[in-house]
Amino acid sequence: MKRTVEDSYKHKGLRKKLIESIREKGINDERVLEAMSGIPRHFFLDSAFDDVAYQDRPFPIGEGQTISQPYTVAYQTELLDVQPGQKVLEIGTGSAYQAVVLAMMRANVYTIERQKKLYDENKLFPYLKQFPFIKFFYGDGYQGLPTYAPFDRILITAGAPEIPEKLIAQLKSGGKMVIPVGSGNVQQMKRITKMEDGSMQEETFANFSFVPMLQGKKS
Ligand code: SAH
Repeated sequence: MKRTVEDSYKHKGLRKKLIESIREKGINDERVLEAMSGIPRHFFLDSAFDDVAYQDRPFPIGEGQTISQPYTVAYQTELLDVQPGQKVLEIGTGSAYQAVVLAMMRANVYTIERQKKLYDENKLFPYLKQFPFIKFFYGDGYQGLPTYAPFDRILITAGAPEIPEKLIAQLKSGGKMVIPVGSGNVQQMKRITKMEDGSMQEETFANFSFVPMLQGKKS
């Protein structure tokens, strides 16, 4: 994969417009918008996508996977309500764009990818070197990261057929999980809050379309 490493005036201008369009679509958490304003999305894609990287659309990143649509990233991040210093587990590293959004919001990010090729690609991505608070893992997100649990926040960026029990178990008391749930082409965005008494509060939001959360890892 060939990456562009320069953030030109043109890219900065297009990025500003993208952030404004996301704001108009209803995202009003300034911390999310500010984080995304500072991230050159075109760095995360092959340079063939340089001219379109700031369209509010998903794009292919190889292995049949996609970088999420910016509006979707903003929507999930807003629901996650992450605070500085919190431990956040992300399932589905993909391009690492979402992980960087969380790092820009000063979270300690643990992110898991099941596809070895995508995981390896991020090891070769120089821009990520400036984010020591992102820890990358190759593994099956359904297992979570028991060694590092519990987490303040858990974000799933692939469509889950159901809410994974093992991940709920790795959520702190008072912690929140944002997860698109549904096995077809459409998922409902849900936010699960683990209450102090151990019970779960579930909220349902808009419909989205994610690539599926799959079992096991792929070499
Ligand atoms: N957060 C990513 C979105 C990538 S799309 C970004 O910002 O670019 C979803 C990703 O989830 C894909 O890379 C896919 O391989 C990965 N994935 C699917 N099931 C998974 C699982 N069980 N564990 C870890 N990653 C998974």
